[in-house]
Amino acid sequence: MNTRQCFIGIDFGKTNVRFAIAEDQPELKYFTKRPYLRGSPEEIHRQIFAGIDAALEAAGYDRGAVLGIGIDVPAVVNRETGAILWGPDWDFMAGASLTKPIAARYGVPVVADVDPVMATWGEHWAGVGRTCQRFAMLTWGTGLGAGLVIDGEVQEYPDHLFPEFGHSRVSDDEWPCKCGATGCVDTMVCGGGIARHGRLAVEAGRQTLLRDLCGNAPEQVTSPMVFEAAERGDAVAVAILERVAVLLGRLCGNLVLTMQPEKIVIVGGLTERCGWVLDTINRTMRENCWLLFKGLTKCEVIASGLEDTAGVLGAIYKARRMLGKN
Ligand SMILES: [Zn+2]
Repeated sequence: MNTRQCFIGIDFGKTNVRFAIAEDQPELKYFTKRPYLRGSPEEIHRQIFAGIDAALEAAGYDRGAVLGIGIDVPAVVNRETGAILWGPDWDFMAGASLTKPIAARYGVPVVADVDPVMATWGEHWAGVGRTCQRFAMLTWGTGLGAGLVIDGEVQEYPDHLFPEFGHSRVSDDEWPCKCGATGCVDTMVCGGGIARHGRLAVEAGRQTLLRDLCGNAPEQVTSPMVFEAAERGDAVAVAILERVAVLLGRLCGNLVLTMQPEKIVIVGGLTERCGWVLDTINRTMRENCWLLFKGLTKCEVIASGLEDTAGVLGAIYKARRMLGKN
């Protein structure tokens, strides 16, 4: 049995939950990812308890070794009470305390926060933040989350909020966004948006591999199909990703004008495909930001090296900070 003390990090995505354990360093002693069931607060807590117990047993830690627990969720959380305030993917949890039943069962402090905030704390502790104290973060997947680090501190805003520049309007297209506005960069560049670009191309009768990939059923087009077609040289799919990259590049240019980050880090489910579009994002950012094209400041958009672990690392780091540890 491992006698060293540890922290637990939990990261709920839209469909999967990740459980991880770390001690003093940003180095995971245990990591697993699996689908989870949604339905009720009791169901979520039952799965959290089972996941924590299984993680401790698999990694060889006693329950008494746990000093704190951090949880990353796809919803806005009351940072004082741990209650879920709102979130389109977690409406079944609205009003319930996520943290209290866990704190009661394990007898340790439990902290929860929304996913872009936790991922940014993860990048601060274990990624770019080790050498850079001023950077921005984009979590690119089913939505476009955002985070800012200034002077080594992740920016957490009043009323339990956080930076929301993923919902900046960058397009005249009237595409509805889940936030209620239209034309947000979030709705144009994320999984659903990329699929929609593909569907519209097939519906318009464009000559594209996407037609075969979706079985001539435009509503079946997914974002992985667009990436696959682009990787196979399909001009329509390449143009879709170029358009997505240009929109992201404009957003990054606006970010440089606003906060002059040294780096903009992209993390999330689509990051593994980032190599395809990173050059266009960087070029568009430079072309649209006079501070860059006049050489007055520097910034580079890079892919995170943390991929799937940014959320659990951030959750662990935030649990450590609760106890006064950095
Ligand atoms: Zn929006």
